[in-house]
Amino acid sequence: MNDLRREFLKIVTQVRMHLEYQRALGINAIEMRISAPVCSVKKAAPYHETAAQIGANLNAPAVLSQSAGLTAVREELGNCLRCKLHKSRKNIVFGEGNSSAVIVFVGEGPGYEEDQQGRPFVGAAGQLLTDIIVKGMKLKREEVYICNIVKCRPPNNRNPEPDEIEACEPFLIKQLQAIKPKTIVALGNVAVKTLLKTGEKITTLRGTWKKYQNIPLMPTFHPAYLLRNPKDKALVWKDIQQVMAEMEKVQKG
Ligand code: SF4
Repeated sequence: MNDLRREFLKIVTQVRMHLEYQRALGINAIEMRISAPVCSVKKAAPYHETAAQIGANLNAPAVLSQSAGLTAVREELGNCLRCKLHKSRKNIVFGEGNSSAVIVFVGEGPGYEEDQQGRPFVGAAGQLLTDIIVKGMKLKREEVYICNIVKCRPPNNRNPEPDEIEACEPFLIKQLQAIKPKTIVALGNVAVKTLLKTGEKITTLRGTWKKYQNIPLMPTFHPAYLLRNPKDKALVWKDIQQVMAEMEKVQKG
């Protein structure tokens, strides 16, 4: 085998390993961009950086592509021990979907099934969210991005506590910073209160557009709530129709 061929096979192997690693992180699509060599790479923020500091950079020009940005966030999270939720988790549930998604769904935290599989929204509530995306919005699950406020399951599915949210939120902000979605759907009280820094309840806020770092955000009920209160599915469908109209506007604009 000549040197050129050996070098080519080495590159192919490295690319394959990189793609397999990305898939393991839940990144199912990558952005292809041909550009001049990048001379400087933005240094990842230290993990003690506050949510507000990171949030201030959300609309800064992209230095890394979305998928590379998400990979960097996952690498920074590592085998996270930053809050007490690490003690009882089986898997970190980082998030999954399209790294350059137009729309991101943000839930509260992993449940039992999600913890077992290391994937977001795969239990009964997840099936309902998938139905909303696939049957309602006519999108593939892989076209959107799905994640949570906290990446580890709170014991007995209790709400995440303030110190746990504070420890994990910087990584959600960095995920959003990497993806740069055009729309965010916040699912349930914990997601809405965390993202909007409000004490108002989801029952008051749902169905009205808010802004998160200049990105339109639609608060709506969490699918787990809908499993307990199926009569409110119609309200969520109304909210999702507004989201679809916004996406259409974005696509045309
Ligand atoms: S919930 Fe977030 S901050 Fe806490 S251990 Fe898990 S990944 Fe780390």
